[in-house]
Amino acid sequence: MRMYDIIAKKKNGAALSDGEIRFFIDGFTSGDIPDYQAAALLMAICLKGMDAEETAALTGAMARSGDMADLSAIPGVKADKHSTGGVGDKTSIVAGPIAAACGVAVAKMSGRGLGHTGGTVDKLEAIPGMRTAIDAGRFISIVRETGLAIIGQSGNIAPADKKLYALRDVTATVDCVPLIASSIMSKKLASGADAILLDVKTGSGAFMKTTGDAVALAQAMVSIGELNGRRVMALITDMDVPLGSAIGNALEVREAFGTLKGRGPSDLTAICLELSANMLFLAGKGHLDNCRAMAKDALYSGRAFERLTAMISAQGGDASAELPSAPVKKPFKAAADGFITRMDTELCGLASVALGAGRARKDDPIDHAAGIMLERKTGGRVAAGDTLAVLHTSDAGRLSEAEAILSRAIVIGGEPPAPSKTVIAAVDANGVEYF
Ligand code: URA
Repeated sequence: MRMYDIIAKKKNGAALSDGEIRFFIDGFTSGDIPDYQAAALLMAICLKGMDAEETAALTGAMARSGDMADLSAIPGVKADKHSTGGVGDKTSIVAGPIAAACGVAVAKMSGRGLGHTGGTVDKLEAIPGMRTAIDAGRFISIVRETGLAIIGQSGNIAPADKKLYALRDVTATVDCVPLIASSIMSKKLASGADAILLDVKTGSGAFMKTTGDAVALAQAMVSIGELNGRRVMALITDMDVPLGSAIGNALEVREAFGTLKGRGPSDLTAICLELSANMLFLAGKGHLDNCRAMAKDALYSGRAFERLTAMISAQGGDASAELPSAPVKKPFKAAADGFITRMDTELCGLASVALGAGRARKDDPIDHAAGIMLERKTGGRVAAGDTLAVLHTSDAGRLSEAEAILSRAIVIGGEPPAPSKTVIAAVDANGVEYF
């Protein structure tokens, strides 16, 4: 087999066979296939697309390019959830414990923040003592003991994706549905869960800016899961406004704790209940309406918060310890009277990064205390001088850039915007249901 022929075949619009796809992924992972040939194939895939079988084969080959987690020592169905990334998205820290409190084992590998989006691993590491670098054996025993573990992805999960992603980043081949879907799902398949709930975000703070694009990505990922023998469904959820009020690591952990104590913002509480109910449904816990009732009971009885504190202790942390708090706090005020007609959510995330909550470069340290507490959100009526948000940072020198970004992000106008839905649609192997 020659890589040249595989590139030419895709350039001409033909479907690649399983064998050709495996030849590419194995050769690229081992270094036998050079970057320039891989880049040519990636561009051909972007231009000519891939059908469902090719995309599933690509994903399977990428998943098997490294370690495949074996969770068989954990009894019952193992569930995972994955968000495509957003701002203020602390749902894993809330929905995971709810599902665990209802008897579903949650074995989750999470990522760090990327660009304007936050990452669950960074958030959890804001908790004093908390460890997320945990070996496979201990990961399994924590899930067995507490019903739940959330750890960072080990170095050898889907190494083909790591190499391909770096190449896509510099060859304008990131925004391609089969490549995004295979990248995300290769890591999920390798992480070992039987049931995978995808939270595909749409809106100004999401990777997929329109509902149509989010649905297309969700359909591709659901189909990959089905063809690889996993139960997968997706919710399409709103990321046209930050989720909840807190953006930034320790601030988000505090909000997640409050939500698990029944005092969460309504949008965050609603989405976490819906995500956990769908995790239960996928894991075979019965009719979706029963799963919704079980999720509600686990949240409001405090059982889900107990699951989270047990997980935190098992991972070396202390949920009762003081979370990092920023020495500098500055209100951000409305410049005019009116309604908040739009919050550019990507810019809100970038303002939080500018305060120190994210990284400018891969290995930069982060300020766990930094971020933004929103006091008003899209649709709210405001008067000039009202506090819209409070900026938190350990470095006052970072304020002016964050303020400049936030003043571009928050738009005040004369008319209230149309209300939006938090959960927009559900996608499974049978089709799409819009709410
Ligand atoms: N997240 C991933 O893991 N991969 C992509 O290609 C895009 C988002």
